[in-house]
Amino acid sequence: MIFETLATSGHEEVVFCHNKDVGLKAIIAIHNSVLGPALGGLRMWPYKTEQEALNDVLRLSRGMTFKNAVAGLNLGGGKAVIIGDPAKDKSEALFRTFGRFINSLNGRYITAEDVGIDVNDMEYVFRETEFVTGVHQVHGGSGDPSPFTAYGALQGLMASLSHKFGNEEVGNYSYSVQGLGHVGMEFVKLLREQGAKVFVTDINQEAVDRAVNEHGCEAVALDDIYDVDADVYSPCALGGTVNEQTLPRLKCKVICGAANNQLATDAIGDELAGRGILYAPDYAVNSGGVMNVSLEIDGYNRERAMRMMRTIYYNLGRIFKIADQDGIPTYKAADRMAEERIAIIGRTKLPTMGQGTRFLGRLRGQ
Ligand code: NAD
Repeated sequence: MIFETLATSGHEEVVFCHNKDVGLKAIIAIHNSVLGPALGGLRMWPYKTEQEALNDVLRLSRGMTFKNAVAGLNLGGGKAVIIGDPAKDKSEALFRTFGRFINSLNGRYITAEDVGIDVNDMEYVFRETEFVTGVHQVHGGSGDPSPFTAYGALQGLMASLSHKFGNEEVGNYSYSVQGLGHVGMEFVKLLREQGAKVFVTDINQEAVDRAVNEHGCEAVALDDIYDVDADVYSPCALGGTVNEQTLPRLKCKVICGAANNQLATDAIGDELAGRGILYAPDYAVNSGGVMNVSLEIDGYNRERAMRMMRTIYYNLGRIFKIADQDGIPTYKAADRMAEERIAIIGRTKLPTMGQGTRFLGRLRGQ
């Protein structure tokens, strides 16, 4: 049954990690390692069933293969999940035990933070394995990736504006931004610095007040964000917000934001293309975070990270070109770009980055 699923999804390896004493139930999924070791975050979530956890880790690890490939990284796709409640079930022993499982894979999987995990949890994992990114800056880590994700999304936005309007002056356009968390708040700040008109919403009123008072945004009610007459809709909160209900309401000409899995279905992506709304594929737009942590593998350098963010501009340009040339929606063009890169690197068998063994920049234990 499981092998049938893996045959369809194309996964290479799935590892079930268990330790009764510390209450660890975790799954590590390596989807594809053609481009290099599989990098992807660790999520902790109170999954209702083991099947739900398995489905999630398979789906997310496959997504990382595409994201890392389009980002131009020498990294494959992987992900890990721990079944548990982040508010109640965390302990040093749990994360150290999990770290030993990661270490046993000898660099085939490199972990990072995801939902339910913070830098303190990563510190425990790091005590047992070097195959971890997103550790504290004192260990050579890169810290919070969100400002990089926001800056990278700005590069993706400029490529989108250039493609749609033939002019990439961010300040010439209006934006409706949903979600003012780590990424969204930084993103609206960047937009406002360029003089753009920015409408915002969030379930957190404090965040809305900050965006209005500190950055000069205009607040709208939660559900009204879909009706705003803005040139660009920028989802920076949840997935699935471009769906059958919201699509008829959207007046934007471009969709470009940092949230993952923005399209509820592929059919919505086809429909956007039919309506002439340019969709900037989410995993290409929000790849600044993974680019940033990937630099930890060779020794983190902030300037290099900022330069790397600029590649998002060119990646988006390439995706739009594929979509135009092949007459396909942009979400499919992004997948095609990833698949082609994996296929050609796989065929040529170019040497890839150290297979996760070159953590030279780390000052381990300091
Ligand atoms: P976050 O949790 O800091 O922020 C999310 C914000 O969305 C919060 O302020 C929350 O109150 C708000 N929100 C939740 N539900 C909402 C709703 N229904 N309407 C309006 N606002 C709502 O998360 P983040 O790190 O800023 O990430 C935002 C999105 O970007 C997520 O989808 C995440 O997966 C994606 N992403 C983040 C990074 C990163 O570097 N942090 C990288 C890649 C992708």
